[in-house]
Amino acid sequence: MEMTLNAKTLSQKAIELEDKYGAHNYHPLPVVLSKGEGVYVWDTEGKKYFDFLSAYSALNQGHNHPKIISALIEQAQQLSLTSRAFYNDALGKYEKYITSYFGYDKVLPMNTGAEGVETALKLARKWAYTKKGIAENQAKIIVCEGNFHGRTISIVSASTDPDSYGGFGPFTPGFIKIPYNNVEALKNALQDNTVAGFLVEPIQGEAGVLLPDEGYLAACAELCKQNNVLFIADEVQTGLCRTGKLLACEHENVRPDVVILGKALSGGVYPVSAVLADDEIMLCIKPGEHGSTYGGNPIAAKVAIAALEVLKDEKLAENSANLGEILGNELRSIKSDMIKLVRGKGLFYAIVITPKNGKTAWDVCLKLAENGLLAKPTHGDIIRFAPPLIITEEQLKECIGIIRSTIESFE
Ligand code: PLP
Repeated sequence: MEMTLNAKTLSQKAIELEDKYGAHNYHPLPVVLSKGEGVYVWDTEGKKYFDFLSAYSALNQGHNHPKIISALIEQAQQLSLTSRAFYNDALGKYEKYITSYFGYDKVLPMNTGAEGVETALKLARKWAYTKKGIAENQAKIIVCEGNFHGRTISIVSASTDPDSYGGFGPFTPGFIKIPYNNVEALKNALQDNTVAGFLVEPIQGEAGVLLPDEGYLAACAELCKQNNVLFIADEVQTGLCRTGKLLACEHENVRPDVVILGKALSGGVYPVSAVLADDEIMLCIKPGEHGSTYGGNPIAAKVAIAALEVLKDEKLAENSANLGEILGNELRSIKSDMIKLVRGKGLFYAIVITPKNGKTAWDVCLKLAENGLLAKPTHGDIIRFAPPLIITEEQLKECIGIIRSTIESFE
């Protein structure tokens, strides 16, 4: 009893500290986590939860994966950072590994997903001026309505979500916004011969796991090719086995001209992002024109190799595809008028909630947490389900039981 009270005080204290001293740019669920392992996390009271958010798909390999943690510790004890003013003995090996892993000539290493996207935007503009012959300062990037590519000024300039861009102007020019999942709209936008690239999420994650129609990505890639425009895939959330393939674009046999990776590239232990492209594109950026102090540091290099190895060693694409089938079927079988819609691919699912008796997706998430499963609402009425991809069938079934009984408790 005393221990529980102490622990409760601990979690309240942690919440109060964040509230008092941290910027209020997030609205977390009132759960204070202090430990993680595999598919589980524990709060300060020792309560165990299934993590069904996986830090927005950064923890595809699960919490504290021993192989990734060992890589982190070993390299941290050896050499942590050199900056790119000097060579280091880990980066080249990583660059060779990741480029052959994904089949591209070159990689440009950064840290966060947003930096990866910024890099891709700069790369596309530079390519447009040096290779495509677009007049200086005229290059445009086509983006999709409902996109989420990060939080920098340029990226929110490309956003159509007022929460993302509102109050942050003036905005970066050069974006053309078209409806997602609309090939005709892309065709029309491509009439403009100052277009350098088309930036797209293969599945819109933050928008609430919005899947395009089958054939959309392939048709867009083909149109880009015909118009000499770069097809740039933001796979920061959909990539690295989340949707049942190594990259979500593989579902339609699309090889993007530029791929952006982040999140699970480090298995959730370190900020690591990357942009992949072939020489024709990547070599448009010359020394001194782009970079980051931490980008390509030796810890990141070693951690990313380990994280990518785990995806292959543990067959996480296959597990995601197989268990995703079960998750989708089971979610669709829940009979509740609170569930308006179920959609997803692999272990990347969302349910759209119809509020009932004043209870919203937020209340469902609070109840799920009470019942031992952590998920977070997005856009008010959508709950995303994205467990670590190492989850077993038995664990998944237990989770589905929790989701089912939680939703039914609102009936
Ligand atoms: N791109 C996509 C598709 C994302 O989902 C996110 C983050 O959720 C980002 C980019 C930005 O990544 P980061 O938060 O690491 O900057």
